[in-house]
Amino acid sequence: MRSTKTAAKIPTSLARPQPVNEGRALAQPKQLLPANRALLQRQTAPSAPSAQPAVPQTQPQRQPAEQIPYRLAPSFQRARLSEQNVTQAIGRFGRTPVANELLGWLQARHIAVSIVFVARSTDLPEQTNEPALGTFEPTNRGQSQYSVFVVGGATTTVAQRNPSGSTSFVDTFVNADPESIARTIFHELLHVWFINRFPSSPIPTGHTAELNPPNITPWGTIYNEENYDPHFLAKLREYDAQTAPPQNH
Ligand SMILES: [Zn+2]
Repeated sequence: MRSTKTAAKIPTSLARPQPVNEGRALAQPKQLLPANRALLQRQTAPSAPSAQPAVPQTQPQRQPAEQIPYRLAPSFQRARLSEQNVTQAIGRFGRTPVANELLGWLQARHIAVSIVFVARSTDLPEQTNEPALGTFEPTNRGQSQYSVFVVGGATTTVAQRNPSGSTSFVDTFVNADPESIARTIFHELLHVWFINRFPSSPIPTGHTAELNPPNITPWGTIYNEENYDPHFLAKLREYDAQTAPPQNH
């Protein structure tokens, strides 16, 4: 746009390509040279439709999984939890290749998935076999639209110093850690993928009801493997590998 403005100011005699000629260029008033050069570039540049605004390098193209639709349930809003916190979680989830792969598989089959963020486990729709951080609906295969429900809040205990100098511990409801929210989004999406991808698995949802929550340790995540379908477990481990913090060697 800047070059258009500048071009409007220059005399009409210059508003056509000038031969690139050192002697002639020197004969021109110096301050007109850059504008004239810009005009030349404009006229030799490819035609207008390809002249897209440049995407700043700090904002790489968002991947499909980062653009997964979501909504905030009334419980989430009543609890005044942070939308920014859950969009940050979507970002973490959405930048993993495995999340994009699963979503791509579903999209290719015209299966849509969206997220509903609720405040607490007790705000989830009725569910029987989840470690109460999320669930998904419907639970049967071959549907065109699924919702994954994810808990956005967490109760934490904080120490409070009393005026007397003693310390008491108070339960406080806060935003859950975006990393654990991202994990739950992935876990629930994985169920949606699994029930459609492996409809005849002996473990229909991908894991049994006897599942213990995974034990996340600094050296890796430990699963009680016997309670998982191997395909489901393999995808969980892919996600772990793709979200692992860089190791200090
Ligand atoms: Zn599950």
